[in-house]
Amino acid sequence: MSTYDILIVGSGIVGATTALAFAQKTKLKIALLDAKKISAEWHADHADPRVSAISLASQRIFQNLGVWSTLQAKRISPYQKMVVWDAGSHGEIQFDSRAIQEVALGYIVEDSVMRTSILEQCARCDNLAIISSVELDSLHEAVEYVELQTKSGHAYRTKLLIGADGGQSWVREQAGIEFACRDYAHSALVTTVKTELPHQMTAWQRFLATGPLAFLPLADLHTCSIVWSTSPAEATRLLALSNTEFQSELAVAFDHKLGRVVAEQQRYRFDLYRRHVKNYVKPRLVLVGDAAHTIHPMAGQGVNLGLLDAACLVDVMVDAIKNQRDLASFSVLRRYERWRKSDNATMLNFVEGVKCLFASEVKPVQQLRHVGMAVTNHLDFIKNYFSRYATGDRSDMPKLAHTISEDN
Ligand SMILES: Cc1cc2nc3c(=O)[nH]c(=O)nc-3n(C[C@H](O)[C@H](O)[C@H](O)COP(=O)(O)OP(=O)(O)OC[C@H]3O[C@@H](n4cnc5c(N)ncnc54)[C@H](O)[C@@H]3O)c2cc1C
Repeated sequence: MSTYDILIVGSGIVGATTALAFAQKTKLKIALLDAKKISAEWHADHADPRVSAISLASQRIFQNLGVWSTLQAKRISPYQKMVVWDAGSHGEIQFDSRAIQEVALGYIVEDSVMRTSILEQCARCDNLAIISSVELDSLHEAVEYVELQTKSGHAYRTKLLIGADGGQSWVREQAGIEFACRDYAHSALVTTVKTELPHQMTAWQRFLATGPLAFLPLADLHTCSIVWSTSPAEATRLLALSNTEFQSELAVAFDHKLGRVVAEQQRYRFDLYRRHVKNYVKPRLVLVGDAAHTIHPMAGQGVNLGLLDAACLVDVMVDAIKNQRDLASFSVLRRYERWRKSDNATMLNFVEGVKCLFASEVKPVQQLRHVGMAVTNHLDFIKNYFSRYATGDRSDMPKLAHTISEDN
């Protein structure tokens, strides 16, 4: 049997960051475990089709954990502007990082760049064990520990178990944690495209009645990652098109904003669900990231919310250790739950509201959208509030996301 103070199941971006933060900020014995092979190997010539828009708060978390310089050395693309416009009403809003005195509104980063950079840093921590390719079989909750049994007969015992195993979380299911799930009735098509005109370091999003279409700027000025959210039936149709057919439909749907589009890369499909657990914690057990909440990608927030979960959890635990409290006790863990649940719910509800607002083809609603967007575009204080909120600037930030510590 192997024993740990904290065991994290799931080495995605959120799980790996949680493990790294605990390993760096405490002297506890930590393990990071995944069903798949955990590898820090990165191949510069392989462009990952999965990218995420990373907020400035997430950037600060990565800087404070010593990961940011590795990300920069690999591949990231800052975006300084964001243009959002509505196909139905022709309303448009532009956001600019200069208006909030920042050099960027955020960064587009390939998921594999993030994950391998975090794992590289994890490998430097003596108090962190990395355990790959484990098939978990059962979870047993006792008063003093949680025990995981693998299919091969090994046991892992931990004082605190963290479930970071994504939207289909095994830990959540085993622990019997209930969650609300709603089908967004959208599927996202993801691929990388070339554009005739340069992307101008701008994140573009056009709202169609069927769903939003985003062009996210990559390091090459004529290359974007697209996320096209639409009805599942339309996604099936778009996936079946030839490259030539797809790229001409894509250029039309995007209003030819960046001229001709060449779409020769493979297209991937993700069916989108809104999930939110009723409880983030049980005695000795916590959920973080997509295991606790999944959100529509239109606001580019899934990873960002998950990283804030990780940073808040570490704050709560470090405080508990300082005050010599049992870090896995329910009352300590509840502080994390209270902190994160309301923030995540606010973002989930905001995204839901935006999705419904832009889906309506009723004329008065379209007119309202047009007026609303035109007015908002001229009200700097509202735009700056939204920019600040989306960049992760909230009143009650965890230490890792707040300021950059001097030693980084
Ligand atoms: C199309 C699309 C675009 C998106 N764009 C953005 C964006 O721009 N910005 C943003 O912030 N977010 C974005 N997101 C959301 C983001 O991708 C997710 O929120 C994020 O990847 C969740 O990370 P995670 O570490 O919580 O989970 P995951 O990435 O799902 O990782 C879970 C890990 O757990 C492991 N695992 C699963 N089951 C087990 C098991 N039984 N035992 C052991 N290990 C297990 C898996 O192998 C995996 O390594 C987007 C999502 C989609 C679908």
